[in-house]
Amino acid sequence: MFFFDNGLDSKRTIGIRDKQILYRNSKGRCQNPGCNKKIEFDEMQVGHKTAWSKGGSTTLRNSVCICYRCNKLQGTDSWATFMKKQGIKDPKTDMKATLETLTITQLKLLAGKHHIRVTGQVVETMFDSHRKAPTKRQYINKLSGVVTNADLHSVSEKSKKKLPKTTKRLIPTKKRKKEKPMWDTLF
Ligand SMILES: [Zn+2]
Repeated sequence: MFFFDNGLDSKRTIGIRDKQILYRNSKGRCQNPGCNKKIEFDEMQVGHKTAWSKGGSTTLRNSVCICYRCNKLQGTDSWATFMKKQGIKDPKTDMKATLETLTITQLKLLAGKHHIRVTGQVVETMFDSHRKAPTKRQYINKLSGVVTNADLHSVSEKSKKKLPKTTKRLIPTKKRKKEKPMWDTLF
């Protein structure tokens, strides 16, 4: 039949070599973070990040190793939509939101830690050109894929440690000590 002989079906999945690479890269587990089930090579389903029916290519890059159940669950949704429906957040966007809460000094500290140079925009004037100081957004864009949760912890710890020092100074401990001897002399 004409309709079945369009050759498209043979392009729907990756070749055996790519399947083996995909299986090895996923360490034999379903790549849906909400599942992570151990699967045999024969059980492996080749999922697509962008569905084949929606123009997703049949390449290793667009493929995910998933179990039968997850493949059914994903249906024709893209991988991103599939993650969203399960309430699984993309770690990179999550990190951007966290970095947003930091001060520019803390962001500078993180950039320094990872040897990342963040440069501001070049401003051209009539006489010269100079660089503006980098904005918070420029820092966040460069750091979001690099910074780990441990880094964030160390930065917040550093700012926490500074706090007790200043609060201690506000408590007049010396005055109280001086008052005691006065009572002693009265009785
Ligand atoms: Zn699964």
